[in-house]
Formats: sequence, structure tokens, C-alpha cells
Amino acid sequence: TETGLQPEALPETVAPAPTARDLFAKFDPLIAERDKLMSSGVRDPFGIVMEEVRSPTTAVIRGQETILLGTYNYMGMTFDPDVIAAGKRALEQFGSGTNGSRMLNGTFRDHVDAEDALREFYGAAHAMVFSTGYQANLGVISTIAGRGEYVILDADSHASIYDGCKMGDAEIVRFRHNSVEDLDKRLGRLPKEPGKLVVLEGVYSMLGDIAPLREMVAVARKHGCMVLVDEAHSMGFFGEHGRGVYEELGLALGDDVDFVIGTFSKSVGTVGGFCISNHPKFEALRLSCRPYIFTASLPPSVVATAATSVRKLMHAHEKRARLWDNARRLHGGLKALGFRLGTDAPDSAIVAVILEDQEQAVAMWQGLLEAGLYVNVARPPATPTGTFLLRCSICAEHSAEQIDRVVAMFAAAGQQVGAIAAT
Ligand code: PMP
Repeated sequence: TETGLQPEALPETVAPAPTARDLFAKFDPLIAERDKLMSSGVRDPFGIVMEEVRSPTTAVIRGQETILLGTYNYMGMTFDPDVIAAGKRALEQFGSGTNGSRMLNGTFRDHVDAEDALREFYGAAHAMVFSTGYQANLGVISTIAGRGEYVILDADSHASIYDGCKMGDAEIVRFRHNSVEDLDKRLGRLPKEPGKLVVLEGVYSMLGDIAPLREMVAVARKHGCMVLVDEAHSMGFFGEHGRGVYEELGLALGDDVDFVIGTFSKSVGTVGGFCISNHPKFEALRLSCRPYIFTASLPPSVVATAATSVRKLMHAHEKRARLWDNARRLHGGLKALGFRLGTDAPDSAIVAVILEDQEQAVAMWQGLLEAGLYVNVARPPATPTGTFLLRCSICAEHSAEQIDRVVAMFAAAGQQVGAIAAT
């Protein structure tokens, strides 16, 4: 044989290999829960495949044309002809990938251009692009708050914020979701001297509610804290320049907010993450932030699409108006049907329908999918206070007629599972 090992050379009795302790045993309850759900005949809400995507609002799923109401394509930029052309040009000129980290060999012209576009968009001194928004939170939070310092975060923060806290060495303090009073109380108990970072989100993505950022920032500043706001779900359509909830509420970068985190995966319509700041020493992060340094940079085509999209978003006033019209139309329609919603008013481009339990949520999700509508199922631990949600995210490119069809589909599916009374 190639190894030269002859079968007769094997010892007669082979000692049984010691069995490894199965590290997957801890997933048994999760697997059992999923099997139970699947055996009730529903489809896997986390296994949807878009076989064909026809526009920002329609795709083919299981052979059927389906309205998309579960993407974060708020501004519908994924099919913008200028965005696509920029991506194609970069793909042809610079190739398909960068092969390396920004620090060593992975900074291409379009990374710099995307950062320039972000600086223009935010009117900011500094912009730093990461490979995803997840990594931007992971990197910035874990790097700027160190040992002996504090990160203070909202209990309903996104997983990437929690993971950034876990990765760093700072002490972590949580406050009750959107509670200015609780934030004040908890900050009041901390020692005065150490540096502190308060982490907030403009829009909280599960229920679609917005943060009282003015009051939060006032409290944070009173206690001498720096402030980071994740504006992932607001870019492009909150505030005069589309900079986010902080701008809408009259706050300024530098004076009130030290760092804005954002993503290219939602309104921008591609993939990537970023941090914006006016801090004079901000560029030091490029030399110290591990999730920036030790991973490959985004492909040139991706950053080129991002740069073009960000610049177009600066002038997308009409799209913005249409997005808000759609949000009001959907929220009003679902509310009139009697659904329990995540917010009383259409505060953002996310409308969350609150259901009783997982069975009802998944049955209704399936009813909607069969009728030709795709929304998201959200469940604990992603959702606050153990709720099961069908989450709708609205796109500027949805037509009023599509929204009316969506409301009609919700009426039928909601009645079928008993979430609303039959008419
Ligand atoms: N922050 C928030 C609030 C988010 O909701 C998300 C993604 N859902 C992210 C950060 C991560 O963004 P990305 O998709 O670019 O990793």
C-alpha cells in the first residue's frame, strides 16, 4: 500500500478508541424543538431560499412569485442601475476579491472611496469600513472600552453589541430597554473616574421602536460618558440628511454622539459595516481593532456599490417619502384589522405583529408564504420579553397596491390562526 503498512502488520487486537464526549449534546433540546415543529407539517421559517430575485420587492420562492416584506432593503437600492453599474465596473477593473486585510494588502481604491462617501453623507471627519455591521460593533465596542472601564447598554441591544461587550475587557452594565430613568440610576452607581461608553440604537429592530435619544444622551453626558449609537435601521430615511434617529432628534455628531455605527446591508443594499466619528484620535482604531485588522476586506465590487449607493441616498428624498407613506399604510391597515403591533404609531420601517406563541407565529407565517408573502419570524432570544413576532420591513419600492394586497393576506392568515377575530 502507499503507506507501506501491511494488513498483517496490524496488531491482533486493536484497543477501542476512547469515545469523545459529544460537544453537540447541548444542542439536543434545540434539535428536538425544531423536529417537533417540523413534524407538525410546517416549513422551516429559517430555511427559505430565494430562487430568483426579480426586484427589491419580489422574488420567486418555491416556484411562486412572492412579495418580499422581510428584507431590510428599506430604500430598494439593490437593483439601482447606477449601483449595479459601479459594482460591475469594479469587478472588471479590480477582480473578484482582495485576498487580505485592510492593514496589509486589502485596501483598494473603492474602500477609500466608500469611506469618502460616508464622510460626505455624515458630514464627519472620520469613517472606517468593516466587513460587516456585526464586525463594526464587535470591533469598536471591544476596542474602545478596555479593562477597568465600562460599557453601559440597553437590555434589548442587538447581538453584535452584546458580542462586542463579551469580546472586550470592560465591565458591562445593562439598563432597562429605553428607560432613561434606569440608565441614570445605573450610571449614578458607577465610580466617577473610569471611562464609560453608553451604547444605544436609533431603531430597535425587533419591535421597530425608536430610542428617546435626546434624553438618553443628556443623561450619558451628565455622567461623563461617551456615546455610541447604532443606526443600522434608520440610515437614509431619518433626519434631514438621512443620518439616522440622532439627526431626526436634533443631536449632533461630536457634541452629543461620539460614534455612529452603521451597515451597508440594509438601506445601502449591499454588505459591510462602518463607524463614523469626529474624535481626533479615531484613526488609532485602524491599528488596534482586531475585527478590522485580522480579517479580509470587502471585495472591490461591494465597496464600489456601497459608495455609489451612499451618495445616491443623500438625494433620495422621493424614495424616503414613499417609504414613510408605505409604513403608514401598512401600520394603519394592520392596526385596523385588530393585530397587536410592536408600536402604536408607524415609528420606523419595521412593523412587528405580536403573536401568542411559536405555533401560531409559524402557522401564520406559513399561511402568508403560501399566499405569496414573505415576512420574518422572530423568536426569543432575539426578541424582547419572550415574544413571538412576524416582522415586516417596508421598502420604498413597495407600491401602494402591494401594501394593500399584503394587508388583505394578513387579514386572511390572521383569521385562520385565530390571531384576529373573523369578520
Ligand atoms: N446592528 C443592528 C442593530 C442590526 O440589526 C444588525 C443586523 N441585523 C447589525 C448591527 C449587523 O449588521 P450587518 O448585517 O451588517 O452585520
